[in-house]
Amino acid sequence: MKGWRKSSPSGGATPAGRRPRKGRLRRGIGFLGRAIGLVFLFGAAVSVASFVRTPGIDVEAAPETGVRVDEITRLYPITMARISTPKTVEDIAAALRGATGKVSIGGGRNSMGGQTATPGGTQIDLRDYRGVVAFDPVAKTITVRSGTRWRDVQEAIDPAGLAVKIMQTYNTFTVGGALSVNCHGRYIGQWPMIQSVRGLTLVLPDGRVVSATPKENSELFYAAVGGYGAVGVVADVSLDLAANSRVRREDEKMPVAAYASYFRSKIRDAPGVVFHNADIYPPAYEDIHAVSYRQTDAPVTVEDRIRPADQASWVHRLAYNVITGWPKGPWIREHVMDPVLFLENPVTWRNYEASYDISELEPASRQKTTYVLQEYFVPIEAFDDFTERMRKILRTHEVDAVNVSVRHALPDPGSLLAWAPNEVFAFVLYYRQATDPAARYEVGRWTRELIDAVLACGGRYYLPYQPVATRRQFTSAYPRSAELFALKRRVDPTDKLTNTLWDLYAPDATGSFPPATPLRLPAALPAEARIVLDEVKDYTRDEAAELMTHPEWDLVYSSEAYARWLEQGRKPSGFPYIACVGTFWRSYYGTWRAAHERYPIGIGSHVLLNVIGMSTAMEYGLKEVYENTFGRLSELAMPPGGTDEDRYAARIAREYVGLIERVGWYEFDFGKALRELWTTVPASGPGFLRKWERRFFLSGEYGIKATYAWLIGLGTRMSYTPDVIPRGIVAVGWDEVSPAIPNLAPSARLDRGYTLLTVPRYNPFRDALLALSERSGSVRLAEVCGSERVTLTGTAPRGWIAPAGATSVVAYAVPVDTSRNRILLEVGARDLLEVIHRLRTEGQFRIDHVYDY
Ligand SMILES: Cc1cc2nc3c(=O)[nH]c(=O)nc-3n(C[C@H](O)[C@H](O)[C@H](O)COP(=O)(O)OP(=O)(O)OC[C@H]3O[C@@H](n4cnc5c(N)ncnc54)[C@H](O)[C@@H]3O)c2cc1C
Repeated sequence: MKGWRKSSPSGGATPAGRRPRKGRLRRGIGFLGRAIGLVFLFGAAVSVASFVRTPGIDVEAAPETGVRVDEITRLYPITMARISTPKTVEDIAAALRGATGKVSIGGGRNSMGGQTATPGGTQIDLRDYRGVVAFDPVAKTITVRSGTRWRDVQEAIDPAGLAVKIMQTYNTFTVGGALSVNCHGRYIGQWPMIQSVRGLTLVLPDGRVVSATPKENSELFYAAVGGYGAVGVVADVSLDLAANSRVRREDEKMPVAAYASYFRSKIRDAPGVVFHNADIYPPAYEDIHAVSYRQTDAPVTVEDRIRPADQASWVHRLAYNVITGWPKGPWIREHVMDPVLFLENPVTWRNYEASYDISELEPASRQKTTYVLQEYFVPIEAFDDFTERMRKILRTHEVDAVNVSVRHALPDPGSLLAWAPNEVFAFVLYYRQATDPAARYEVGRWTRELIDAVLACGGRYYLPYQPVATRRQFTSAYPRSAELFALKRRVDPTDKLTNTLWDLYAPDATGSFPPATPLRLPAALPAEARIVLDEVKDYTRDEAAELMTHPEWDLVYSSEAYARWLEQGRKPSGFPYIACVGTFWRSYYGTWRAAHERYPIGIGSHVLLNVIGMSTAMEYGLKEVYENTFGRLSELAMPPGGTDEDRYAARIAREYVGLIERVGWYEFDFGKALRELWTTVPASGPGFLRKWERRFFLSGEYGIKATYAWLIGLGTRMSYTPDVIPRGIVAVGWDEVSPAIPNLAPSARLDRGYTLLTVPRYNPFRDALLALSERSGSVRLAEVCGSERVTLTGTAPRGWIAPAGATSVVAYAVPVDTSRNRILLEVGARDLLEVIHRLRTEGQFRIDHVYDY
């Protein structure tokens, strides 16, 4: 048999010369496979060539009129009108007197929720107001300017054998910032920082300079310390100092349940403990690692007296990545890293141990994820109670914690916003979170749970962090805040000094909370509004999708251009098919570049866009070839105005555009288009050759697309549910809007003058925003679909300059009119109406679409 086959002259044919059916089928499939492969290769070649021939264009933007102020997490960027950098007390007074709007105060900007800024205001940035004013080593006191960093203080006092008495773990912070949050460190037998402050000078909002101590202007003293810049700018600060002793590190690991009694018996009242902290290990939060530094006379094992300033290192970055990013990261930290790190008991100087720099914590990027702190102060007798509650919340929400570090503080002698009215343990939670809106709102939810937990234990939460507490939580934690605000109204009657914290939590003179207005729109929504929005199904959309949807829209623009081209009776052979493929890939590349730095982009998104891109390349590539050969020949026989088939093609192209603006292209009924071509278009008429060439060409096009659309639609419907949800927009000033705007309806009145508006997707969404932009003086948006960023596309003449507040994500020439560029702009939600209004008044940028993802 084998031999027969081999000797068969026809290579497998039957003796009668006919191939067996199975072989023919296989060859048929083989031929089809090769044909598809060739078309695919052709599509790939078209894609590459078109991309190379479609350069991206840099669009300049007008200079920003404001200055962006960032804090360390990058979660609360705030645009301020200006920054003032005083170098003397007179400069500070002049800045306060001369300010026309709101003023915020900036130290090292390490608070994590906009505590140093307010939108549109002036920031008095004190980092240039620095240096030692007076130093008395014998009395162990120092007076410094408030912008001085702890490191500079340490360098000044170390040669005299002295150390800072109370400061944070890191020496990067300014003295003024530390005083204004009333910081704590890792000390044992110490209080919040207030207890080391002898006195201060305060520049009041009217420019007067007063001194304040626990005895003189004591009301101002207790309001300024821990007052987050509410009553004035702290200029100079006099501090008590301590001896720079030698300390020996020792550590012990135990169950968390054993810690409270261990602390009482071995740490709190034991002689010589200078620093102490204890890290509770995630994710179980059952074990704790206590580390203490006891005074010793032993010689130092580390010669350096102060650590070097730059402590950034890849080792630290890797360690934090492992702890928060690896599946068994916390376990590795507890069982591998810490045992190695704590093998020895080094002896160092106190200043050495108090000179960590926050650069050691800085990750390679804070774009997609960022590291954040929170703190809860718990009366010492409630340690176990709070631990139990906290453990449950952190576990339930699977918080990506590095650790919860426990510290201790004695009672505050009387600051108005005292966080330690009694002796407390501080629970310092250091964790990693994603930066996208959904992650941020989720953090808000569990943070409010933790705040409720600490309040239930009689404790307080710390204010330099994300301002997500409700007003009820704020006033429960800080019952004397009413006294602070009463004093503030006396010294600052025009409420000049503010920041995000006070924008959210300070009542007005009548004790109520004024509504936000377009002119005074705080940087963050109040928790009361967020809680309502959290309940709105699918309110928060995916910011990455907003960017990654642009390439698909580029195809809508190409299809629209094609429909218009045909409607104008222009010859199909002249349409720039290849350039339209190029704009798709350029858009994909540009939006991916912008998106992938900020968001994780799922593989599904890439698969989808590549399938779409390749399909387009194959379709447009084949059309380019056909229309410029057979099509061009038949155009010779085209009557003026085209044949009925040409006009039919234009009509179908228009209907297709109308549909793909709302739903996937595969929803278009190409089968019907094909049927009606043969049933409704007259078979006779002028331009016989062209008519029949078009009939067969269009039949081929509609037939192939009908089959392809059916297949794609089948797959898509199996994996996606249709998205018909109306979009949500949060606005202030909605009550001023009259007459009503079609499709835009209020769906919930939120706290403090915010309104949730809903609007259907796509064109109604765009049209509603365009209409609303006419009222940009009286209405302002806070967020759109939960996001603080919105994108829009349009076309503008070459050389057009984007207005301030808008940045170009990607731009390229419009294929059918290369004198114009198509530009994807990104705009902050709060500036959106104003930017749209400016674009429309200026008239050069024609808006195509406002994205509603
Ligand atoms: C990595 C890290 C570790 C931290 N560790 C600790 C810690 O161990 N203990 C602790 O208590 N906190 C800690 N914090 C929290 C807190 O952010 C800082 O204690 C403090 O805010 C940092 O000082 P700063 O100079 O950056 O202040 P900023 O953030 O600039 O300012 C803080 C507040 O003080 C106000 N302010 C600043 N300067 C003045 C001034 N001269 N007059 C009036 N108001 C002023 C600002 O308006 C703002 O409201 C930590 C923060 C980070 C990021």
